[in-house]
Amino acid sequence: MLGATGSIGRQTLDIIRQHPERYHATILSAGSRVDELINLAREHRPRLAVIAREELYPKLHDALAPLGIETAAGPTALAACVEADDVDMVLTATVGYSGLEPTVRAIAVGKDIALANKETLVVAGTLINRLLKTSSSKIYPVDSEHSAIAQCLRGEDLASVSRLLITASGGPFRTWPAEKIAKATPYDALKHPKWHMGAKITIDSATMLNKAFEIIEAHHLFGIAPERIEAVVHPQSIVHSMVEFADGAVKAQLGVPDMHLPISYALGENLRMADVAKPLRLEDYAMLTFERPDTARFPCLALAHHCLQVGGTAACTVNAANEIAVAAFLDERINFGDIYNIIERTLATTSFVAAPGYDDYVAINAEARRRAQGFIGI
Ligand code: NAD
Ligand code: MG
Repeated sequence: MLGATGSIGRQTLDIIRQHPERYHATILSAGSRVDELINLAREHRPRLAVIAREELYPKLHDALAPLGIETAAGPTALAACVEADDVDMVLTATVGYSGLEPTVRAIAVGKDIALANKETLVVAGTLINRLLKTSSSKIYPVDSEHSAIAQCLRGEDLASVSRLLITASGGPFRTWPAEKIAKATPYDALKHPKWHMGAKITIDSATMLNKAFEIIEAHHLFGIAPERIEAVVHPQSIVHSMVEFADGAVKAQLGVPDMHLPISYALGENLRMADVAKPLRLEDYAMLTFERPDTARFPCLALAHHCLQVGGTAACTVNAANEIAVAAFLDERINFGDIYNIIERTLATTSFVAAPGYDDYVAINAEARRRAQGFIGI
């Protein structure tokens, strides 16, 4: 489990805790929350616990060595641990670009992947698909929209798909005028109406870049052409996404907003486990509504089709600039409206590689981060 202490990691551990006969977390890892990682390791007894921040290693080691739990630290150890023999499936639930290297290594040795870290596919979806062709690995999406689409596609012929309709809650600023959105504070942006998630994805939901990323993610996961993938705003977050077919039929997956369901479906490799989420009582909802997204107020959304059209390293650059901009916004160094401006300026000035390999993504990610930092003045 990459990112065991986060929102997805903890909800995954809920499922593992409920089904000890089926699942065991053999490796738990975290970025910097070492105390939480120690507590989770005490409870779940993995073989190995890994912390990304190297200076936290002594604390992790001292706490877990007496329990016979191996420990390691640093990004290289984190990426290497996915290759271990006792790993059947890798859950990628870290934030941002950090998901790429472990996912590439997991695919190289044929491990299945429960993919929460959508940034991996945003940054390098073409490379990941190329690697999958010569590997026995399968990717099971954890993102609720992509799980919904995978569920709708079960038993269907991909050639008969006419559109993927990815639902979006619209985030906390759905009804706000543009001038007010531009000056929104981190406090405003972190109040997501429907989902309790990590800070970075919550800000991405507020800018709607999260939905742009999900369009890119859907393209790489399902191989559907970009012009056939659309976002639809659905504030109640009950319909998790839809697939329209050639004959006009539309299939949707519905459920209460609860990530335990898509996580469980991914962990079980499309298995329907009992009592995962609360049953949906549609009569409790007066209305389910749908509206077109507004790319004038949410310009980040339009970056999806731009990046897919341009291809190459464009989305890698957008992702890197966004990571820097979101961190600066949370630090109150820039305004909410500046997030898009920084992405746009970074995209206009960063080098572009049309047919990138792994090393190109590494280089472009680093260059885009430097440029975005330069625009912010850090
Ligand atoms: P989070 O911030 O709650 O947790 C992130 C986890 O990753 C933590 O365990 C943290 O310690 C670890 N981490 C962060 N940076 C790291 C690094 N550089 N190296 C190693 N570990 C690192 O985030 P989250 O909301 O759980 O989201 C995780 C991923 O899942 C993101 O890619 C997000 O887009 C995706 N996702 C989340 C949700 C959700 O409901 N939370 C839904 C769909 C997709
Ligand atoms: Mg999602």
